[in-house]
Amino acid sequence: MTNMEITLTCSECGSGIHIKPTKDATEAKCQVCENLMPISFNDEHLEGRLKTCPSCSRMDFYKQKDFNRKIGVGLFVFGAISVLVFEIIGVGFPWNYSVFLGLAALDILLYFFVPMVVACYKCNTLFRNVANIEDIHGFNHEMHDRIVYSDHDFKGEQLDH
Ligand SMILES: [Zn+2]
Ligand SMILES: [Zn+2]
Repeated sequence: MTNMEITLTCSECGSGIHIKPTKDATEAKCQVCENLMPISFNDEHLEGRLKTCPSCSRMDFYKQKDFNRKIGVGLFVFGAISVLVFEIIGVGFPWNYSVFLGLAALDILLYFFVPMVVACYKCNTLFRNVANIEDIHGFNHEMHDRIVYSDHDFKGEQLDH
């Protein structure tokens, strides 16, 4: 049993609303603008399994790396600055570039170890620690476009081509 973590996007102000499945929750409150978002959990959600969206009740999801691009960019900037600082204080090659390469390697390593996050195509709600992550496919452009632009409902059926 996993403890699923859910991030809703507030329909009023766009802030993230973090909640965990609880049996009798019917709404989630935005901490920023106090907007209430309707929500409903079933037993699967309580077990950490995602079949239907607790926010929009659709069944179409995709998974992707839960990678914070800011960390990657931050490491890169930090690396570039250290090269510059080494240059100024006179610590030259190869130390300056070793630091830079080390940080680049760390960046790549981080990418491989970041967990997956699941997102609802329809309402963009995010789910972390999903127990049935293996059942969920990667992002499908055609599904996304049909769900978002023509309000198509795939009912959990993956489009394969
Ligand atoms: Zn809000
Ligand atoms: Zn949804």
